[in-house]
Amino acid sequence: MLMSNSVNHKESARLFARAQRVIPGGVNSPVRAFRNVGGEPRFIASADGAWLQDADGNRYVDYVGAFGPLILGHRHPAVIAALAEQLERGLGYGASTAAEVELAEKICALMPAIEQVRLVTSGTEAAMSAIRLARGFTGRERIVKFEGCYHGHVDGLLVKAGSGALTYASTPGEPDSKGVPRGYSELTYILPYNDSAAVEALFARAGGDIACVIVEPVAGNMNCVPPAAGFLQCLRDVCSKHDALLIFDEVMTGFRVGLGGAQGLYGITPDLSTLGKVIGGGLPVGAFGGRREVMECIAPLGPVYQAGTLSGSPLAVAAGLAMLEAVSEAGFYERLDARAAELLAGLRQLAAKAGVPFTTTQVGGMFGCFFSGGALSGERALGDDEPISRFEQVMACDAEAFRVFFHAMLKGGVYLAPSPYEAGFISSAHSEAEIEHTLKAAAVAFETVAQD
Ligand code: PLP
Repeated sequence: MLMSNSVNHKESARLFARAQRVIPGGVNSPVRAFRNVGGEPRFIASADGAWLQDADGNRYVDYVGAFGPLILGHRHPAVIAALAEQLERGLGYGASTAAEVELAEKICALMPAIEQVRLVTSGTEAAMSAIRLARGFTGRERIVKFEGCYHGHVDGLLVKAGSGALTYASTPGEPDSKGVPRGYSELTYILPYNDSAAVEALFARAGGDIACVIVEPVAGNMNCVPPAAGFLQCLRDVCSKHDALLIFDEVMTGFRVGLGGAQGLYGITPDLSTLGKVIGGGLPVGAFGGRREVMECIAPLGPVYQAGTLSGSPLAVAAGLAMLEAVSEAGFYERLDARAAELLAGLRQLAAKAGVPFTTTQVGGMFGCFFSGGALSGERALGDDEPISRFEQVMACDAEAFRVFFHAMLKGGVYLAPSPYEAGFISSAHSEAEIEHTLKAAAVAFETVAQD
């Protein structure tokens, strides 16, 4: 096992040069380009368990997990076996299968707020479809989203969005992307995350026009920001009062923060939920589901159109079913939670030892690391002990310290998401040995930050 990687990235560099000629920016999704941390991306050749191996043979403990799906680690035997078995029976049929019924039944059983569910091929598609359905059901056009929440690259949701949109956003107040018609983004109200008073005030003024509120119940695209006490309940109450639908975007949190998702963890019943990532076992998938009465508005039963050539892909369904079975094992989330807590306690201790202002957040198997020395509203430093609950706090963190830390960790054989705005993910394949390896690398990385 490598304890420190060589500086050889020749093959990654060669591949990146080739990629930039034929793929915009050399990547198929912007965050992968390392623009937030500088330097050049590593090209991954293979992965196993908690480890990635790049094209030059360097190995890394992986805290990205394909941005969330790989809660069992890479190449989990049950997932590989399910895929192998499905491969023998074909790749896709454009027709219904028993396995997709089984997956839908499993999702409905684990998340009782979901009475019916439709499978799609990405989280973006799930969010787009859920919004269309909410508009179709309520006959209203306006929607509410929160600053720093990301729901995929849907036109009307690319306003103050998180994830890569935070890096590449254009002018404040404008859509985050050129090419989004103003008319679309003008239908989207943006509110501060965790600000119940702002939600109540908006609904008091415009509640009758609002089709839905879409929210990440744990925000995972502005680093990891848990919901403040009472915030999700406020959304539920306000939506019920004004006949608007509450959509929990659980693409990231679904089967990640607990077996019942964030809705199970916090005991809130949304009208609609979106899913993705874990339910595809690492293959492209998404889903949206919820109250029967609402879901029955979807074609072929109702007037809201939605369709997909590869929806319910047998391979994705097979992988997802295998994964859901594995995470349903008693104690799975308790073990994941404890492992993540152990990692974060170790990181905080090392940061304190090096004198680096640093704080963390955690909900189940997702976590956030914040270099908290930055100025808040240009006035005071964000304190180490200040609970992170607001977008403004995330933006106040020290991006330069993260950059230095990220590269030192990479050198030490640890792969973090290449942006201070992404959540971290741990898997059941991360054992004591991987945590130890990570903390050894972190001891050096925090010292490097302190000396920088
Ligand atoms: N919703 C959330 C909460 C997400 O985190 C993401 C992606 O990270 C999406 C939606 C979009 O999913 P996809 O990238 O599969 O389109």
